[in-house]
Amino acid sequence: MDIVKRFIRYAKIDTESDPNSKSVPSTEKQKKLANLLLEELTEIGVEAFVDEYSYVYGKIKGTKKTKNSVGFIAHLDTSSDAPGKNVKPRIIENYDGSTIILNQDYQMSPKTFSVLNDVIGDDIIVTDGNTLLGADDKAGIAIIVDFCQQLLKNNFEYGDIYLAFTPDEEIGRGADYFNLDFFKADFAYTLDGSKVGGIDYENFNAASAWVKFNGRSIHPGSAKLKLINAMHLAFEFHSLLPVFKNPAFTENREGFNHLTNMSGSVEEAFLSYIIRNHDKEKFLVQQKEFETIKDYLNNKYGYQAVEMKIEISYLNMYEILKLDLKPIEIAKQAIKNAGITPFTTAIRGGTDGARLTYMGLPCPNLGTGGYNFHGRYEFLSINQMKKAGEILFEIIKLIE
Ligand SMILES: [Zn+2]
Repeated sequence: MDIVKRFIRYAKIDTESDPNSKSVPSTEKQKKLANLLLEELTEIGVEAFVDEYSYVYGKIKGTKKTKNSVGFIAHLDTSSDAPGKNVKPRIIENYDGSTIILNQDYQMSPKTFSVLNDVIGDDIIVTDGNTLLGADDKAGIAIIVDFCQQLLKNNFEYGDIYLAFTPDEEIGRGADYFNLDFFKADFAYTLDGSKVGGIDYENFNAASAWVKFNGRSIHPGSAKLKLINAMHLAFEFHSLLPVFKNPAFTENREGFNHLTNMSGSVEEAFLSYIIRNHDKEKFLVQQKEFETIKDYLNNKYGYQAVEMKIEISYLNMYEILKLDLKPIEIAKQAIKNAGITPFTTAIRGGTDGARLTYMGLPCPNLGTGGYNFHGRYEFLSINQMKKAGEILFEIIKLIE
């Protein structure tokens, strides 16, 4: 089956994950795609299985001995930020740069979406304006499955290759049950990116802070110099944080503190923050600022007016990858060998690859040709998706 047909087949299966679900996978429907992939992989000759959590694993035994083995990973689920049911992909051949009418209400042009300039002349796949496309990350899956098919049909020389398709990446749980006892690659790549030629190996260091404020509630009629309003303590705390270290004022490698939730009464108030920075030192400084403000307020009021808990969510994978740059260097060389100039951007978020890297599987991310993820304007360049497949071949040639 050709890669485009494969992609469309996957895109039509609704695999939206659910952040509010406690089950694994978070939605039953992801199993449908997992089982289909098991069938397809088996048919093309990959030893594969689906585990109880709907992770699909595969292994292709090497035809030669190599010191290192490599893995490729993509995710089954789609984001719940936009409808994911009844996806109707439409192919536009040789895109000419004009405005694309998705439907009566939704259109996109290079004026509002400058990324469309990247794909002029390409065959692209768009939505009908009612759903997301699911190129995130079914493009990654199609690339990997197509790669396996080509590999096993032809006489190539390669070492052991591992594959995995994970559920629930969009809700941050894709690495939770990842089976490293089976997946014995020395390093791997997620195919979950945008423009082909991109290699991402830096992401945020991330923490969450929960701050609780203990007020001193007294009837307002007799409150003079006695009342301490917990909500005012919360205002005071927030006002002492650096004003411009806020997502609304930051980009690229600039970190931030982001207030995500507030609630309270006179007696008790709560603020929740996320703390983000690519740079580990600066990340620590930001946490220290939270501590300093807490101590200052407790000192000022003379009792434990502020309580706080800071927890690390995930860390920048580059801290690990920089110790052995091989996976990054191989990817860069492979991209060059495929005839494109590699580029990198620091991800302003986290990835499952980052978590896998910290679990012992170094795992940068590669571009797939998908754009405008998590919405109706999502689209996929077929040319770039095919190019991404070539890059996988170049990678296995470079594994020694
Ligand atoms: Zn993704």
